[in-house]
Amino acid sequence: MLEENLKKVQENIVLAAKRARRNPDDITLIAVSKTKPAEMIKEVYDCGVREFGENKVQEILQKSELLPPDISWHMIGHLQRNKVKAVIGRAKLIHSVDSVRLAEEISKQAFNSGIVVNILLEVNVAGEETKYGFRPDELNDIFPKIAALPNIFIRGLMTSAPFVADPEDNRIYFRQLKQLCVDLRNKNIDNTSMDVLSMGMTNDYEVAVEEGATCVRVGTAIFGEREYNFE
Ligand SMILES: *Cc1c(COP(=O)(O)O)cnc(C)c1O
Repeated sequence: MLEENLKKVQENIVLAAKRARRNPDDITLIAVSKTKPAEMIKEVYDCGVREFGENKVQEILQKSELLPPDISWHMIGHLQRNKVKAVIGRAKLIHSVDSVRLAEEISKQAFNSGIVVNILLEVNVAGEETKYGFRPDELNDIFPKIAALPNIFIRGLMTSAPFVADPEDNRIYFRQLKQLCVDLRNKNIDNTSMDVLSMGMTNDYEVAVEEGATCVRVGTAIFGEREYNFE
């Protein structure tokens, strides 16, 4: 069943890419496995998926013990500063950097571990009060500050669009995130590449791909509904 779900999502990504005249290989599917057990993750792993997303440090630590070492874990949920030390070196990419203080802590811990940590800046494009992330108008100010921190590399931007009945309603936010990313990329600041755009979830990943997503984060469409809603 998971295999069929996965195939459907992969097919939809290819179709959306083609509609936008994009190369489907430029889009990475991150299977969001939060709240799901290691056995289910292994099933999806056995279908070839190597990129998994979690929103809690504890789950990344526990699951990475139980699952093959060639999995890349993506930290996609709000990260508390006191959890940074534990996740450094365990996550391939931290998508959810939503404050300068958090970036400073990541920098400090990365420096202590002697590694460079890849991050995305989370942007609250729709200005939802319940969501984390920088306001679009803050980015020009904070971008060079975070880029200047040691042992941090800013790969791009991430957003979680509003929960809407019609995914077309989110197209404008995906388009805005893409434009913000292009604008920051044009600044050509050291320790930034701005080639990653993490946007699109179960409800709206096809629209996100059409608007330039390079990473989509899909949970429910692959693993089914989550029993507990932690978000
Ligand atoms: C849970 C989660 C997802 C996946 O959501 P689905 O609707 O189940 O696809 C994607 N991104 C973030 C940040 C999440 O917390």
